[in-house]
Amino acid sequence: FGDKFKKPKGSWDCTVCLVSNKAEDSKCVACQSEKPGGSVHVTSSSTSSFFVPSGGFMGLDKFKKPEGSWDCEICLVQNKAEATKCVACESAKPGTKAELK
Ligand SMILES: [Zn+2]
Ligand SMILES: [Zn+2]
Repeated sequence: FGDKFKKPKGSWDCTVCLVSNKAEDSKCVACQSEKPGGSVHVTSSSTSSFFVPSGGFMGLDKFKKPEGSWDCEICLVQNKAEATKCVACESAKPGTKAELK
């Protein structure tokens, strides 16, 4: 006695018409109401703005060297075009001496 009234595992009662439905039913067999709590297909949470940076390489210009600038071969400091010596280690600008070959 009593086993007959045990609900099958996962079964659920319709909140609208109180009909007992099977676990595999996603809607009430009687009134077609959605299964409460189960398989919620609410799409509101998935609408978080998908951020796509359209100009991903826009910041690249910042890394462009000023025209004519040069990197010190000794200390790797970047020097301005008008500098003939490295501002840091005072090494001569590479290429300036090479002409005297
Ligand atoms: Zn129902
Ligand atoms: Zn240097």
